[in-house]
Amino acid sequence: MERTTLLTSFQDFGLADPISRALKEENYHTPTPIQAQTIPIALTGRDVVGIAQTGTGKTAAFALPILHRILENRIRPQPKSCRVLVLSPTRELSGQILDSFNAYGRHIRLTSALAIGGVPMGRQVRSVMQGVEVMVATPGRLLDLVQSNGLKLNQVEFLVLDEADRMLDMGFINDIRKVVAKLPIKRQTLFFSATMPKDIAELAESMLRDPARVAVTPVASTADRISQRIIQVDFAAKPAVLAQLLKQEPVDRALVFTRTKHGADKVVKVLAKAGIEANAIHGNKSQNHRERVLAAFRSGEIRTLVATDIAARGIDVDGISHVVNFDLPNVPETYVHRIGRTARAGAEGVAISLIAGAEEMGYLRDIERLIRIALPREDRRTPGHRDAAPAPAQNRGGRPGTRVHAGRSHEPAPSAKGPRRRRRGGGNNAQQPNRHEAPRPAQQAGKSQAGQSEGIQGVAFLHRESRPNNQPNRNHRPQR
Ligand code: AMP
Repeated sequence: MERTTLLTSFQDFGLADPISRALKEENYHTPTPIQAQTIPIALTGRDVVGIAQTGTGKTAAFALPILHRILENRIRPQPKSCRVLVLSPTRELSGQILDSFNAYGRHIRLTSALAIGGVPMGRQVRSVMQGVEVMVATPGRLLDLVQSNGLKLNQVEFLVLDEADRMLDMGFINDIRKVVAKLPIKRQTLFFSATMPKDIAELAESMLRDPARVAVTPVASTADRISQRIIQVDFAAKPAVLAQLLKQEPVDRALVFTRTKHGADKVVKVLAKAGIEANAIHGNKSQNHRERVLAAFRSGEIRTLVATDIAARGIDVDGISHVVNFDLPNVPETYVHRIGRTARAGAEGVAISLIAGAEEMGYLRDIERLIRIALPREDRRTPGHRDAAPAPAQNRGGRPGTRVHAGRSHEPAPSAKGPRRRRRGGGNNAQQPNRHEAPRPAQQAGKSQAGQSEGIQGVAFLHRESRPNNQPNRNHRPQR
């Protein structure tokens, strides 16, 4: 772990004047912890591996030193080439990263391009014809562009991998390896991931040279300002309970998560019948639709957005007051990512999860074990159904709505049985079948590390276990 004297003002970094001016205009005065740790090191040209999630300010942590360094040696990019390559898992996140580069580079006439799936490739080919300084891309589309001779990677001086763990989850590992194999060996690489399980650490090891290690507070502690609660419901009552919640709660903006695309569409329809206007974003919607809906959500025109995990990954919208899990995710870390969409920028937030059936109860136990909190539960099931998934003997989390502190609770872990291996079905998370009556996958033998923590520089890090090689989601060809 790199020990640095933390700088408390952007002035201290000595960034080029046009960049400093843009930061003032963006109202950035104090660097966030990941920026304070990363920027001084990255400015020296050293590789960096960082543990940080979206919402910590990591985009500026890599974009600012890179912009400064390209200004130090401003050369015209060669045709069909880029100087900076940023790989990110989703279209939305890629778009937001590009917007950030352009915002910080607004006074330097930065040339940039985006290569993402879901839109015709012709325009992207044309946008890099003259060469650009910054290219932000999802791995699949980038590879398509390279393989069709639209782009050469031999001029790349800076490589950023953002949300590396999510890229691996989405099955991009082979594409990433192919891309990296085409890059010059002499380059600066900045590698960010929300978690650092063994497979991600190995990927970083293979790509970085003597990296400095930086990290910020772990994923689980994002829940500090979030009031979390569980509502146990009958499966069929979920839509009605959701509609009721959205009417009763003081919602500014609500993000509702479903595990499947089909589920997201269904929720939108049910809410419409209840008089609540909502829109869905997921992988089946066109890029245009997603951008329009996101803009409407951001501006407050739409108050309720229904999303699958993958579609929601890149959403960077402040002011989400409520996250509602219509379905509980089967990967416990996904729960933490989901609820982290609220309570951003110092605000407080509410996270409510609707749980029906034994399978979701199992997911809940995994989540509680990860975050080390027994979440407050409210039982709205009809009496006849209560045997299927009994409530715990006592409510260890306090009354509904009690503010709980993830990772800091002195409560015992919810189960004494020890951690259970996470359950995964085939395909990526967003495509999981959403059938509460489906049999629970057999438990696998082996010791899980999920929920265990290790102290580094006074900060606890969550470690995810590496997945067995035969996990299908890593072998799937991801959406482009
Ligand atoms: P990120 O984690 O990069 O997605 O950033 C999360 C949000 O924080 C974005 O809306 C950024 O514009 C904002 N942000 C990043 N750094 C700072 C800063 N130092 N001061 C104020 N806002 C920031």
